Amino acid sequence: MRKKLIAGNWKMHKTVNEAQILARQLADRLSDVNFADIAIFPSFVDLYPVNVIIREKESNIHLGAQNMHPESNGAYTGEISADMLISAGATMVILGHSERRHIFLETDSFINRKVKTALSTGLVPILCIGELLEERKSGKTEQVLEKQINGSLKDVKINTADKLIIAYEPVWAIGTGENATPEQAQQAHKFVRELLAKHWGEDIAQNLRILYGGSVKPNNAQSLLSQPDVDGALVGGASLDADSFEKIIRSGY
Ligand code: PEP
Repeated sequence: MRKKLIAGNWKMHKTVNEAQILARQLADRLSDVNFADIAIFPSFVDLYPVNVIIREKESNIHLGAQNMHPESNGAYTGEISADMLISAGATMVILGHSERRHIFLETDSFINRKVKTALSTGLVPILCIGELLEERKSGKTEQVLEKQINGSLKDVKINTADKLIIAYEPVWAIGTGENATPEQAQQAHKFVRELLAKHWGEDIAQNLRILYGGSVKPNNAQSLLSQPDVDGALVGGASLDADSFEKIIRSGY
């Protein structure tokens, strides 16, 4: 049985003070939640201050970063390493988010290096994949997902499913208010699970969590999260407010 994971990607929002306020609200409101895992992904500068709150409150919330560099250190101005993230309290990292792929032109092979680094340092990567609107309209969704999975996971070895999480995030649904229908999400997730089975066998694929991301809100969370292959949500906009994030977590799936 796969436990749902509800993850909040705060993107480039929240100053240190604002991030601590939100973390405190979430820790207080969600302390009883044991039916799902919860994770939040603040900006780099907010990680450590948010970690202080999480520890103070002995919270069940996991902490992760939104990106990282594949190298362990060196002359990479403006970048951050896995060990730096771990030292700030992160246990997870989002990799290959569509904003990284499309705005910062990250390729599958670069993301592949990051996935390997995350795994070797003990950070759990949430690998994001997803098609553009034109690709969906021209019937290329599965082809795109297969290319991203094969490229980003090339030569990646895992022996247990808790080491890696996938997020299916159709690009046309991110930040647009237009979510995939539950049927579209289920179809894509099932396809991705079949691909994962080709990589690591049926047992691991059945235990790997595949999150859906793209305009998840309190009013659509239940229908998306109740699909058999949807194992949680990666939430952007609606995770910036304690009330809406809590409603998604408690939407009864
Ligand atoms: C995201 O940032 O990964 C995301 C899915 O954003 P939103 O929920 O705002 O569409």
